[in-house]
Amino acid sequence: MQHYFGTIAGDNAIIDGKQVHHMINVRRTNIGEHIEVSDGSEAYLCVVESLDPLVVRVESKIEQKRELDIDLTVAFALLKGDHNDLIVLKGTELGVGKFIPFLSSRTIIAPKDETDNRLLRLRKKAEEGAMQCRRETIPEVTEYARLEDVLKIKADHKLFAYEGMAGTSDDLYHYASKIEKRQSVLVVIGPEGGFSYEEARLALDFDFELVSLGRRILRAETAALYAASILSAASEND
Ligand code: SAH
Repeated sequence: MQHYFGTIAGDNAIIDGKQVHHMINVRRTNIGEHIEVSDGSEAYLCVVESLDPLVVRVESKIEQKRELDIDLTVAFALLKGDHNDLIVLKGTELGVGKFIPFLSSRTIIAPKDETDNRLLRLRKKAEEGAMQCRRETIPEVTEYARLEDVLKIKADHKLFAYEGMAGTSDDLYHYASKIEKRQSVLVVIGPEGGFSYEEARLALDFDFELVSLGRRILRAETAALYAASILSAASEND
């Protein structure tokens, strides 16, 4: 369906100037044809009633789907500074459904409990991100977990990004094509200092796939957002 930008005035859609020419002379839109008009925030299904003068009538609002077709959880080792905020804010834009900040053997910082300001700030970031990209739901940011607890979580696909796999053919990009709609996916990202060999072994014991995020060793926050981007793209384009 053709898509245009315009303003909605009651039952009518006023198509923005330059696009009128495109619509009538280039696309040769016909009377009775359905088009989609977006006012910058909502989209509407409309019908062309006449061409000269151009009259476009609004039929209904198109419900926009903003959530992923998969249930995506990103568990990330708590990082120093404001990198955690970045993971939650940008991960929310990419469609992550749940964030689990966790502590592992090489985690540098030692947070307090859930009254910790850092956690409150992360939840604010999830809200901010959800508003920004007009999501229907605000992703959950859980309390701090330990890696051992994260490994026990059940999911259809349990993926452990291990830098020791960098550059191998067991990469997330290829793995993502195996994921089907409505399945749950848990992806685990390590801290600045990475995962220990023992932690990677433990993940295997808990049925995780160890995956590569490409040839280069990414910083932890880049790794989390790279993983979320790949899984988000795979979920929306099949
Ligand atoms: N300091 C470590 C790297 C840590 S990167 C080192 O030099 O080896 C932080 C986390 O990002 C890793 O624990 C892993 O979960 C993820 N990561 C970064 N690059 C990756 C890659 N190419 N493949 C898989 N995981 C990667």
